[in-house]
Amino acid sequence: MLLIEDEEDVARSIAKGLRQESYAVDTAGNGQEGLEKALAHIYDLIILDIRLPGKDGWTVCRELRESGSQTPILMLTASDATEDRIKGLDLGADDYLAKPFDFRELLARIRALLRRKPLIQHPVIRVDTLEIDTRSKTVTRAGSFVRLTAKEYALLECLARDADTILGRETISERVWDERYDPFSNLIEEYIKRLRKKVDVEGQKPLIHARRGEGYILTAKEFA
Ligand code: CA
Repeated sequence: MLLIEDEEDVARSIAKGLRQESYAVDTAGNGQEGLEKALAHIYDLIILDIRLPGKDGWTVCRELRESGSQTPILMLTASDATEDRIKGLDLGADDYLAKPFDFRELLARIRALLRRKPLIQHPVIRVDTLEIDTRSKTVTRAGSFVRLTAKEYALLECLARDADTILGRETISERVWDERYDPFSNLIEEYIKRLRKKVDVEGQKPLIHARRGEGYILTAKEFA
């Protein structure tokens, strides 16, 4: 997701909290930069502060909608003023949250907005004996609990949501990591290796596969 917020401390702490929840977060420190990033990349959600230097949140919201973007927008308002809320919703924002807010409420709003997307399928994803509960972010293989780090989980969910489809490194890094991902690193390979060890345990069908030069796939089908 993309966080557009000029106050560095606030931006840093929100981004940190979201990353701990295994979301990939890009940040922009002003409206113009935010608009450019929002138009150049695919985000599943944009968190947009209203009071920004230069282009304010209202303008960014309006220009995004005018450009045809349907990405859900969660506005951060400085106060609970009704006028601010109405204006944001009129300009095409999907929800708003008044500052200061409880981080748990931000998370709840984010989950609600992401759930609205038709892309998000059934909360429990099953492939062979692998079961991923996307609400509790828990994973079992053949009934046994699989302990994963936040990043390992995010990668597994990304692969499982597009099961039977080869996902390129770029797609994976955009969805699971964020702009801080170094395309020259072997991070994805490293994480795939770890996931295989934990998920494709002995006695179970291997589900995670690599195809040289193309990417990675999670499938229960025969894969050579
Ligand atoms: Ca601000």
